[in-house]
Amino acid sequence: MSAPNPGSDRPLVVVTGASSGIGAASARALAADGWHPVLGARRVERLQEIADEVGGTALPLDVTDADSVAAFAASVRELVDGGAPLRGLVNNAGGAQGTEKVIEADEDKWRWMWESNVLGTLRVTKALLPLLIDSGDGHVVTITSIAGLEVYDGGSGYTAAKHAEGALHRTLRGELLGEPVRVTEIAPGAVETEFALVRFDGDEARAAKVYEGITPLVADDVAEVVAFAMSRPSHVNLDTIVLKPRDQATGMRFHRR
Ligand code: NAP
Repeated sequence: MSAPNPGSDRPLVVVTGASSGIGAASARALAADGWHPVLGARRVERLQEIADEVGGTALPLDVTDADSVAAFAASVRELVDGGAPLRGLVNNAGGAQGTEKVIEADEDKWRWMWESNVLGTLRVTKALLPLLIDSGDGHVVTITSIAGLEVYDGGSGYTAAKHAEGALHRTLRGELLGEPVRVTEIAPGAVETEFALVRFDGDEARAAKVYEGITPLVADDVAEVVAFAMSRPSHVNLDTIVLKPRDQATGMRFHRR
């Protein structure tokens, strides 16, 4: 992993799940806006490539593992001690597994979704909030989903996890009132990333069907919104932003050509 060496006075922004999709795109967009991205994920080679490309720092991170989060947070603290404030956190790591109906729900898949989306966001946020507060101008962005705002057939494990992640994130809005930290929830609809491939356990044909006949969002569409929210003046808090492809009305309703 790259040595902790921001090498400039750019503020730090931690992006979890930055090895692909929305996280990688957000690291790129934020670097272009003058941030020093600290990228965390499990696939460290991919992470390092993106960090090298954007002039960021790659650090191994498994948000489901408390020891991994503690080691990650200690490395971020070293960067802060080196002089660059931690002003941003993008809670992005997560995803879905399976589409079983409740009657056939798979508890292991539920656990995976709760560990990565809910407890993962809790662990990282809890570990880094003191540094964000100390920076004097922090911002927590959490990538939830429209699955955090509605439910759909076959989606109970994911919608339950994303509802919980959204509730955790929105709780911060009140708890941090009076602290110099903003909180923004970004809830995308269908984005073409590795998300569907992970959901269907590497089944490419099944994953491709999700986007068949529609023009989905791409990771850059969401990343631009992340960068926009984080570039507003400090007194402006964008609370919740929902973005969907024009071809999508709800989690289940698409216009397919
Ligand atoms: P993706 O391409 O599969 O990216 C997921 C990222 O999360 C990867 O970088 C992965 O990295 C990381 N990750 C997963 N488990 C992790 C763990 N235990 N510890 C650390 N990192 C972990 O999918 P994406 O679409 O960009 O998803 C990003 C976020 O957007 C997720 O929270 C997802 O629920 C949300 N979202 C996606 C969509 C969509 O349609 N794509 C819509 C709404 C919301 P490693 O595997 O290298 O660890």
